[in-house]
Amino acid sequence: MNNKKDRLIRGTAMNGRVRAFVIRTTALVEELRQRHDTWPTATAAMGRTLTAAAMMGAMLKGNEKMNIQVRGDGPIGHIIADANALGEVRGYVTNPHVHLPSNSSGKLDVAGAVGTSGFIYVAKDLGMKEPYTGSSPIISGELGEDFTYYFAISEQTPSAVGVGVLVGTDNAVMEAGGFIIQLMPGLNDDEITEIEHAVGSLPPITSLMDQGLELEEMLKWMLPDAVVHDEMDIHFQCQCSKERIEQTLISLGQSEIEELIAEDEKAEVVCHFCNEAYMFGKEELEQILEQIAN
Ligand code: ZN
Repeated sequence: MNNKKDRLIRGTAMNGRVRAFVIRTTALVEELRQRHDTWPTATAAMGRTLTAAAMMGAMLKGNEKMNIQVRGDGPIGHIIADANALGEVRGYVTNPHVHLPSNSSGKLDVAGAVGTSGFIYVAKDLGMKEPYTGSSPIISGELGEDFTYYFAISEQTPSAVGVGVLVGTDNAVMEAGGFIIQLMPGLNDDEITEIEHAVGSLPPITSLMDQGLELEEMLKWMLPDAVVHDEMDIHFQCQCSKERIEQTLISLGQSEIEELIAEDEKAEVVCHFCNEAYMFGKEELEQILEQIAN
């Protein structure tokens, strides 16, 4: 892993009719791998999803946040990702211990882990009463194409999504990153063909990163006239706290808590998103019982 920090750049091209996001998530995906002990194929599937989530989070504003669930029929189970407009990302997979033989192109078999049927669900909390929700069927399981399809059919925004994770022989993440190119109204057919060609000719983004290319250079590769408008840091950040876990315990109800006290006088609750364990002793559990009673 190199020492470049995770960040996202946002730009436009063709007089604002194309918008683009390019991101490096190497440290983020490595942290997730360590927290969840994912095996290489699972690391790639989780990392690709969280890379897409980080870019979709960057499309939000203020306190808005979003959640992605990839529910395929493969051995990995579900992939869950949370992201927000501050560049904070977290996530996990149901079964982290998935590693499959390489696919026919010699790459990590992400589609084999995710499955080739199922759905992607996206929920955005935009501060309204009801969240915005969208979904689309999984069409390949490799995830880049699946998110491309999601934008086309659920958000009606023609887009190209590329996401990649390069895992080393020691199972650590060497590079992770991606891009989203979105076509705004007003482009003519020749311009669209030109963009499709440029995006299609881009080598895997993780191999460009491995060669030392900067995000700005990858953006210019796809869109030579692109202008970068801003950038932001991307990092792992869980939203859990002892207080939030306590609320979860309260919601379990009286008999469940009484059972926990009777069984071993304590409870350990592990946050799915970050794998941190929260301990509650007998006295704390009794206080929770009092809160339920009131
Ligand atoms: Zn957590």
